[in-house]
Amino acid sequence: MDQQRVEGLVREILLELGENPDREGLQDTPRRVASMFQEVFAGIRYTNAEIASMCDRKFRVETTDPIIIRDIPCFSYCEHHMALMYNMKITIGYVPQGYVLGLSKFPRIADLVCRRLQLQERIGLDIADILEMILGIEDIGVIVSAEHSCVTARGIQKPGSVTTTTVLRGTFKDNWRQLLNWDK
Ligand SMILES: [Zn+2]
Repeated sequence: MDQQRVEGLVREILLELGENPDREGLQDTPRRVASMFQEVFAGIRYTNAEIASMCDRKFRVETTDPIIIRDIPCFSYCEHHMALMYNMKITIGYVPQGYVLGLSKFPRIADLVCRRLQLQERIGLDIADILEMILGIEDIGVIVSAEHSCVTARGIQKPGSVTTTTVLRGTFKDNWRQLLNWDK
């Protein structure tokens, strides 16, 4: 990303909004926004296959029992409004076939996938595709729940409404309730 160019563009937007970008409170805002974009959209420059090879840290374990990683907190931005998706929790389940993935890799994958302009539905699909590439397994479930500021704070304005999306492959097609209520 061309940091200087983005700073200039943010300055243009401020002008069009009727602001004075030279007033004290806004002087550093274009630079801050450009740095924020660099951080929160860092996943855009990687393909799913590249994320899979970056996070390919698996260990041999003789188990075929399901493993569930619950409630990974994430943020993302919707591709329709560039609006924040917040209070996001991602639960990932999989059934290993001889190999398990290092536990820190699940939030790493979730973060990179979320640091793109996204649809909530696609966040789950991307995570499942990446895990399938790394582990070569079909039994993967991903449940994502979030609030969308484009729904809660603008337009239809329904604060508190929560969207839950599911990706259910292999055994999780029939056992999705287990994935949702694993510890209940
Ligand atoms: Zn939106």
